[in-house]
Amino acid sequence: MNEFLMDAHMHFDLYKDKIEVLHYIEAVKSYTIAMTNLPDIYNRYEKLVGRYKYTQIAIGYHPELVKDFPNQIELFKKLSVKSRYIGEVGLDGSTNDKRICLDQERIFSEILEFLTGKNKVLSVHSRHASKDVLKHLDGFAGTVIMHWYSGRIQDLEEAIDRGYYFSINPQMLNSKSGANIISKIPVQRILLESDAPFIPSLKSQYSIDFNDIIYEYFSNMYNVTKKQVEHRVKANFEEIVKTKDSI
Ligand SMILES: [Zn+2]
Repeated sequence: MNEFLMDAHMHFDLYKDKIEVLHYIEAVKSYTIAMTNLPDIYNRYEKLVGRYKYTQIAIGYHPELVKDFPNQIELFKKLSVKSRYIGEVGLDGSTNDKRICLDQERIFSEILEFLTGKNKVLSVHSRHASKDVLKHLDGFAGTVIMHWYSGRIQDLEEAIDRGYYFSINPQMLNSKSGANIISKIPVQRILLESDAPFIPSLKSQYSIDFNDIIYEYFSNMYNVTKKQVEHRVKANFEEIVKTKDSI
């Protein structure tokens, strides 16, 4: 049995039975930051999630949704005052369409400009865009968690230098590049995430069992007990939430 359970990046709203997922998280006492991918979605679920102690809902504007929903930045700004947690935000370089890239950049930089210095915790998407994400984040005042980092090593090193955190998911443990990235992240910056339901094992049903898999991995990597890893991760998480008294 794990003493400390967490998930710094998951999408409860993408499950069919959302209430069941929230109840489960509450029952297992897992500290959870639930992403939303558009301000509209945050608006829809904010009150519902507010009833639960262990789940904090983040307001997001997913870069891959900018193309179809380009006009929610004012709503984002208006609603973001309600939440300390922000995500999923960032850039996604999977597209070759220059116009889409520019739209993503415009929205991400507006978000950062608006939120800087406001004591926010961001969960940042940087797939195929680590260099640009780092460029935009330069000078941003707030807590940054790089979610499922898969970018260039030089950008990873820059992110580490800047004091960013990294949420690690079990999928990363299975690839050579993921393992290489993980090996470079200081233990004080590690958090756990699932990105559920986007990893195959959590596609149909949410579970917190992945925590143990990651604890086991780090226990072998650092040659320490799983308990020691749990204590370290718990301390890291407390660093992130410490100015928030409700968790
Ligand atoms: Zn996500």
